[in-house]
Amino acid sequence: MTATLPVTPAVDRDGRPHYRMFIDGEWVDSATSIPVINPATEEVVVTVATADTGHVDAAVAAAKRVHESGVWRNTPQSERAAVIDRVIASLAARMDELAVLSARETGMPVRVAGAIGVGFPIVHLGHYAELARTYEFERSGPVTGQVLSASFIRKEPVGVCAGIVPWNFPALIAVWKSIPALAAGNTVVLKTDEKTPIFALELGAILRDAGLPDGAYNVVVGDGPTIGGHLVKHPDVRLVSFTGSTATGRQVMADASATVKRVVLELGGKGPNIVLDDADLDAAVDGSIYAFLLHAGQACESGTRLLLPASIHDEFVARLVERLKTLRIGSPLDPATDIGAVMSKTQHERILGYIEKGKAEGATLVHGGGVPTGEGFDKGFWVVPTVFTGVTNDMTIAREEIFGPVLSVLKYDTVEEAIAIANDTEYGLSAAVWSRDNQRALEVARQIEAGSVWVNDFHNISQYLPFGGYKQSGTGRELGPDALGEFTQDKGITVDLSGDVSRRAYGLVLGTPPSAE
Ligand code: NAD
Repeated sequence: MTATLPVTPAVDRDGRPHYRMFIDGEWVDSATSIPVINPATEEVVVTVATADTGHVDAAVAAAKRVHESGVWRNTPQSERAAVIDRVIASLAARMDELAVLSARETGMPVRVAGAIGVGFPIVHLGHYAELARTYEFERSGPVTGQVLSASFIRKEPVGVCAGIVPWNFPALIAVWKSIPALAAGNTVVLKTDEKTPIFALELGAILRDAGLPDGAYNVVVGDGPTIGGHLVKHPDVRLVSFTGSTATGRQVMADASATVKRVVLELGGKGPNIVLDDADLDAAVDGSIYAFLLHAGQACESGTRLLLPASIHDEFVARLVERLKTLRIGSPLDPATDIGAVMSKTQHERILGYIEKGKAEGATLVHGGGVPTGEGFDKGFWVVPTVFTGVTNDMTIAREEIFGPVLSVLKYDTVEEAIAIANDTEYGLSAAVWSRDNQRALEVARQIEAGSVWVNDFHNISQYLPFGGYKQSGTGRELGPDALGEFTQDKGITVDLSGDVSRRAYGLVLGTPPSAE
């Protein structure tokens, strides 16, 4: 095993911590770098080297060399699992430090960063380690036909896998993109978002210390169209696993088509959150807030369309607004903070633009709708949790993914109408149903066109269940029992055991063999 690499491997000219990229087991600097900005304070957290296309080529070449050498794909399953076990131990030992780094980098409350920025990755790594140990990469096929043969079905690694990671949950998604690919014997090149590169780079050092061969995991940092685009189009990349917006997903799919790559797309959502008239209101109110406000609404699976029956609509909204007033918006580093900052100036302007659109299209603003004022809010990107009622499903705030703390409340009369509204969207990532009657909720859940549906819960992404989108929310699945399967290709091998040439189909071409005359 290699010696522990320094976590922050250099200090730049201004005395600020500076990350280099991780390529072929080495820290690689470049002529260009950008600051990683704390969304709550606008301070520079670190600077990071950014790639040109040459760095992408070097990373892909390293990953290809390792794949072709067989050094990783031929490593026994138990040893691949042991590498993941050691990653878990390293992360667990550094949980607090990584949670604070994540909160500073993303603006999410440190409580959320601890749970989802480090805790979830550890739990999901445990699942991948278990799969690495137990996954059936080869099994016997059927014996068929008149000719005696043995057959095998193999699930083989595809080769160099590209992972493209967005900024919202950069640690968790870096794990989803890289660890199942590695567990299945592939090699990986990740492109992180420039705003949130820290965890993916740290993971390079952690994986190397855990015994992964140099070049099996590489990280480049750079912009989407140039650096991401170059990686997607690269002829030596065999699979692209992308998480991001649906618009970019379409571009990735198009770019991957020239070299007929496998594509896994985890895209946007506009999750319907359906409260039935017999729901436990206390639970449903809290659950509906959790659904739209986790990480200030910057989660793809958020429940951003709240569907309420007319019979309880007014009472529900009143309770929801009262509950929202008890939440604390503020410094992500304060453990008492419930809601942190939004990611960037661009994101801030986008969210405020949607709020204006909601007002202009005739929805009623019942809470929030702007920027908080006072101490702590003079810098950074903040939006008060915002609730619109009187929303109809044709309004922009019901159709487009806002990716911010904005809830659209829609009223319905019958359950059939609620299901129709829920499904009237180009998206299909997530949904929830709230009811005291599990059977009734389940009947609704079965009719929702979405990859994940929760009954009396939200955001409960389990490592044991597949996660991904229907319709334009994506293609392919992460997590679940077949999480490694996405990163394999099937091969059938047949061994002729008959030894009897005369009985074979060769006669179709060769005519009747002399021995059979
Ligand atoms: P984005 O699509 O702008 O960017 C995502 C990543 O793709 C970034 O790393 C970006 O640099 C890169 N990229 C941009 N253009 C590219 C191109 N032409 N080729 C290759 N790469 C390119 O998304 P975002 O704003 O960073 O993230 C928010 C979006 O991600 C939301 O729509 C959200 O719903 C979605 N998301 C989905 C899931 C899921 O599992 N379904 C999870 C998290 C986020």
